[in-house]
Amino acid sequence: MPTRAPTFKPAHQRTTAQRRQDFDRSRADAPWRRWYGTARWQKLRTHQLSLHPLCEWCLESEIVAPATEVHHTDGGHKGDEEKFWTGPFVSTCKPCHSSRGQREDHGQKVVVFGADGWPL
Ligand SMILES: [Zn+2]
Repeated sequence: MPTRAPTFKPAHQRTTAQRRQDFDRSRADAPWRRWYGTARWQKLRTHQLSLHPLCEWCLESEIVAPATEVHHTDGGHKGDEEKFWTGPFVSTCKPCHSSRGQREDHGQKVVVFGADGWPL
């Protein structure tokens, strides 16, 4: 992966967007980021997606969508190695993972409506 040379600016010149970028970068450096690149994770991911090939969150609303992501549900792993490898996991489609998954990771309660229009 190509790495860009870091550019340095005095702290007072950094914008909110740049500070957010710094935060993302520090997340990118987190050890668990690398665990996603391991053969162990690939195997676990393939296993989860073969067990649950459809997006489990879409199914709650009776929508059939193929799952492409494996999400750490129940509050996420938060860098906990044990939780990272043992789950609980949920198979999701990309849109669910980037919307509901992100909100779950930030500890927000997600209200889901079923096909009958009532919250689940
Ligand atoms: Zn979905």
